[in-house]
Amino acid sequence: MSTDQTPTGPPRRIPFHRPSISEAGIDEVVSTLRSGWLTTGSKAAEFERRFQKEVGSQHAVALNSATAALHLALAAVGVQEGDEVIVPTMTFTATAEVVIHLGGTPVLVDCDPSTLNLQPALVEKALTEKTKAIVPVHYGGHPCEMDELLAIANRRGLAVVEDAAHAFPAKYRGRDIGTLGTATCFSFYANKTITTGEGGMVTTEDEELANRVRILGSHGMTRDAANRFLLGHGWDYGVVEAGYKYNLSDVAAALGIHQVQRGSELRDRRAAIASVYTERLADIAGVQPLSVHDYVEHSWHLYVVKLDTELLPLARNDFVGRMAEAGIGCSVHYRPLHMHDFYRRTFGYSDSDFPEAAAAFDHIVSLPIFPDMTADEVDYVIDTVRSIVSAPA
Ligand SMILES: *Cc1c(COP(=O)(O)O)cnc(C)c1O
Repeated sequence: MSTDQTPTGPPRRIPFHRPSISEAGIDEVVSTLRSGWLTTGSKAAEFERRFQKEVGSQHAVALNSATAALHLALAAVGVQEGDEVIVPTMTFTATAEVVIHLGGTPVLVDCDPSTLNLQPALVEKALTEKTKAIVPVHYGGHPCEMDELLAIANRRGLAVVEDAAHAFPAKYRGRDIGTLGTATCFSFYANKTITTGEGGMVTTEDEELANRVRILGSHGMTRDAANRFLLGHGWDYGVVEAGYKYNLSDVAAALGIHQVQRGSELRDRRAAIASVYTERLADIAGVQPLSVHDYVEHSWHLYVVKLDTELLPLARNDFVGRMAEAGIGCSVHYRPLHMHDFYRRTFGYSDSDFPEAAAAFDHIVSLPIFPDMTADEVDYVIDTVRSIVSAPA
């Protein structure tokens, strides 16, 4: 046993995230490995069917990441050389990098300080003749102000490609995320709300768009491998454009089939943890959870608090360090894009360009939240937060 035991018990380890993988999911992966068919085939098709049903969209195309999903959805709506695409600065670099890969320019926009989601009024101000699409990110799993964003897009004839990497499952005013925009992109990365290790999905109501994404994700070929290699089907295929290799393997999809079935159960477990956090952090001065609007159903991918570092005895990075010393994994979502070297250098941004995101960045911390966290672990996180912020370092 470790020698650094505390009087309150053995040392604790609470990772920032731990995926929740069922035995049925593991069995499905193993049987896929034994089946002789590993790449995109019947498991990927089954995963698409179940995901599409769960979200209630007309179409779903499985891909090997959300980055691939965003890349192809933006290509499919016609983003090309010279176009501008509205992207929040408060996001992961994947949201913006794909615009650059298509020859476009990501035009960054500031966030609402209470939810860290895109501010529709600032989106409106950032539009130009060259704007082609808006990419709202449902930060942490809290849906963006979709009615306002869709109204802006409709007025200007723009596509709305949602980055819903955090937002399965989530609802905006009773409507499922995945059915609202021109296309919606989900992530099944290892620490997302459901996982296939690596994976992604595009949902859309537009059949033509779904077909274009499917073809682009498979080298621009008009027939996928499963059809090509079935006995009795021809060896031939057509190449209609220079595509990408973005298809999801059946090995990954086998896990996805079981994850998607558990989507709302896992969400409810995270929501229960979030409500304990919110209730028990309420009386800790200087620790403020983000706002949740009453008309959304939050996926609770992230639980983010803002530290009032004027009031507290320590800065955000020291807080994260003290939590780590207590065995608790925290994270920060995100350093805003305009505060990264590449975006500064390439587009000439400075910190003051987006004051809300820049101000939030020094104060935000994401606490651990995952379905299999025990009540005891949640208590330990809350007690540790309380003791760190109330005692001088
Ligand atoms: C995780 C994430 C992505 C990328 O997802 P991958 O599946 O890893 O490509 C994109 N956008 C946001 C906001 C994310 O958190």
